[in-house]
Amino acid sequence: MSTHDMAKPDTAEPVAGGVEPMVRAENVHKSFGAAHILKGIDLEVAPREVCCLIGPSGSGKSTFLRCINHLEQINAGRLWVDGDLVGYRQRGDRLHELRDREVAAKRRDIGMVFQRFNLFPHMTAIENVMEGPVQVKREAKAAARERAAALLERVGLADKAGSYPSQLSGGQQQRVAIARALAMEPKLMLFDEPTSALDPELVGDVLDVMRGLAEDGMTMIVVTHEMGFAREVGDSLVFMDDGVVVESGHPRQVLGDPQHERTRTFLSKVL
Ligand code: ADP
Ligand code: MG
Repeated sequence: MSTHDMAKPDTAEPVAGGVEPMVRAENVHKSFGAAHILKGIDLEVAPREVCCLIGPSGSGKSTFLRCINHLEQINAGRLWVDGDLVGYRQRGDRLHELRDREVAAKRRDIGMVFQRFNLFPHMTAIENVMEGPVQVKREAKAAARERAAALLERVGLADKAGSYPSQLSGGQQQRVAIARALAMEPKLMLFDEPTSALDPELVGDVLDVMRGLAEDGMTMIVVTHEMGFAREVGDSLVFMDDGVVVESGHPRQVLGDPQHERTRTFLSKVL
């Protein structure tokens, strides 16, 4: 199929008019070898929007987040983040593939929080939060420490600054991971099932931190099975199945009056 051959887009310009979306996907395809995983994703996320992404295991949710975050290259279609075509830079009217260094710079603007917390085990909470600003942004240590302390306070962990990950609960580690992502001052936060690995009683604290971020106007894409969060915090809810967006809309509308049988079947299993 022709979608497996990456045709270089002929222009970097997203559709003009209105507010520029923070994320815009247009017929995005992704294959791993012969396995066609994303089969034409169309999606738009506006600045300050909280977009919740749901769907069965294996439907391509993580793969799509990884494409947004430059961890995977798409095979066809076009994907923009903050007005820039992912993977390319435009010079004159020609598009050039980004170099590794340029990709790394783009990735700094996107925070990602995974199911597993991925903290550095040999560093304290505050050192984990300072690491990016000091090592990547060359921020002075004293200033980075001050900001990290404020971020730990924001996620409710001011008193855990000196604790190592092994001394923290899963929920506390996940909140440190969120603070660490925020330390890079991202324009966009991607959450990939951030509470799925947590004991049920620890989920609420993490969701509260995410709710606070949403209230502060952070643009977020959240892959989650927490339908309560999607309903209360989400501006939009996107249901993906088998590599496509089956339906999307306001969370109350999608949850309360799903239009497609596949959505109804999925929701009957998770609600
Ligand atoms: P979801 O997050 O919705 O559960 P994923 O995006 O993780 O789905 O995976 C979708 C499909 O893509 C799965 O069948 C998975 O095995 C496959 N897949 C994901 N990453 C790779 C990879 N690097 N190589 C091969 N197959 C992959
Ligand atoms: Mg996944």
